Amino acid sequence: MSNSSQSKYGDVKLPSAGLAGNFINGEWSRPIGGKTLAVINPCRLDTIANVGAADARDVDAAVAAAKAAFPKWRRRAARERGAMLIEFGNRITANAEEIARILAAETGNALRTQSRPEVASTAEVLRYYGGVIAEQKGETLPLGPGLFSYTTREPFGVVGAIIPWNSPLVLAAVKIGMSLGTGNTLVLKPAEDAPLAVIRIAELAADIFPPGVFNVVTGEGLEAGAPLSQHADVAKVSFTGSHEVGQKVAHAVADRIGHLTLELGGKSPCIVYPDVTGDAQIDTTVNNIIAAMRFARQGQSCTAGSRLFIHQSAWDKVMPRLVEKVNALKVGDALDESTDIGAVINSERYTAVCGFIKEAIDAGAKVETGKLPPAVQDAKGYFPTPVIFSGVDNTWRIAKEEVFGPVLVAIPWKDEAEVLAMANDTHYGLAAYVFTNDINAAMRATEALDAGWIQVNRAGGQIPGMSYGGAKQSGIGAEYSIEGALESYTSRKSVTYGI
Ligand code: NAD
Repeated sequence: MSNSSQSKYGDVKLPSAGLAGNFINGEWSRPIGGKTLAVINPCRLDTIANVGAADARDVDAAVAAAKAAFPKWRRRAARERGAMLIEFGNRITANAEEIARILAAETGNALRTQSRPEVASTAEVLRYYGGVIAEQKGETLPLGPGLFSYTTREPFGVVGAIIPWNSPLVLAAVKIGMSLGTGNTLVLKPAEDAPLAVIRIAELAADIFPPGVFNVVTGEGLEAGAPLSQHADVAKVSFTGSHEVGQKVAHAVADRIGHLTLELGGKSPCIVYPDVTGDAQIDTTVNNIIAAMRFARQGQSCTAGSRLFIHQSAWDKVMPRLVEKVNALKVGDALDESTDIGAVINSERYTAVCGFIKEAIDAGAKVETGKLPPAVQDAKGYFPTPVIFSGVDNTWRIAKEEVFGPVLVAIPWKDEAEVLAMANDTHYGLAAYVFTNDINAAMRATEALDAGWIQVNRAGGQIPGMSYGGAKQSGIGAEYSIEGALESYTSRKSVTYGI
């Protein structure tokens, strides 16, 4: 589809063929029902583009294409599949700035601090899987005389991947790398709020993979996501998103005893130990707390360290420095180079974040910095500025539920056993952050904390090669690593010979 009226949005170059919405069997096509979705810029509140909105009939066609492509694709040498993933990553790097601008416009994630780094990580993840996937090896078993046995790693078939809007590109890359690398074929459904950058990279991949191997359907959760998760020919579903939708997807997959990966939410703790003293160490720790909270992503990260436990002896040094640094962050249009923090994704998220802030203020929380943002009808863009609360009990909703906004709750502590118990007092278990130079304290904390990923004196993003996945109700399965790909995207076949 060529649609010149939608090829530009301000100084952002948009996908062209991909605005049709469905990429099925190597061709872009409009959804059968003819519906479209408006993709809104959350900073400017205008429409960037209208994209095709799929329903169950389009999902059927995409799954049929992926099923037909599977027998040949699974027999390709792993290193050939890997070479295609590497080529895909390289094309993304070659078009990085154009893709980053699309991503910033649709997500509200600032170009300089978030969207450019996400595009770089997307290419890196694809190249990582491209290189490592040849290690999809089996085992031989020493069974004694007269017997010889080996195992191979077999792909499941069609993978249905459903992703959210907060880091749409890198999450797409993880699912693409893991499923296609291991020999599965894929139907990917991006989030309705942020499908454009994913569509743009799918355009770049159009002539890399054989038709039907990599398919995309854009559309709403109920119309396109649910039929994909319920489809009898989808052997495995890989879902990243909210707890509530994760439960629905898990039910749908359980009905046919399908395979499942879930990457869900978090309410991750940051613990500052009393030995954090001295200007330099406080400065570094505060930078890490800001990074852990993902303020620059408006707090819209599953790994956001949104509960800050500061030892009472460090409080008077850490809190003022934290407030000073948070106040220095510039909130503004995601495409502006000087912006540190953009906008939250949509009016529902904005309203929900404001609701959390109001409830905490009404309950008597102390506002260390920030304020209640304007009501949604008065907002000129969805910009809740960062808020830090103290005077909050760990049992309050704001300390328990995922706000998915730039809201940090700080709680002082004095007893280590108590703080570790508070940190674990949640059904989530995705990430945790520990700040101390006391190696014994760090080891006690990392042993005690129930979290899939604990960072000590660091608060960076996921690292290709390192398994990442949630403990407790934050998820099932691991991603980002070769082990994750093999365990979550293949089954073992055992073969035994009597000799
Ligand atoms: P969401 O669950 O509302 O939507 C995620 C995806 O599911 C979207 O593509 C949506 O269209 C689709 N969907 C909605 N209803 C569906 C249904 N009934 N059946 C099938 N699919 C459906 O989540 P969101 O608001 O887009 O994203 C935020 C959530 O994602 C947060 O909870 C966050 O913690 C989580 N997240 C987790 C990770 C991780 O790695 N653990 C990473 C990023 C985001």
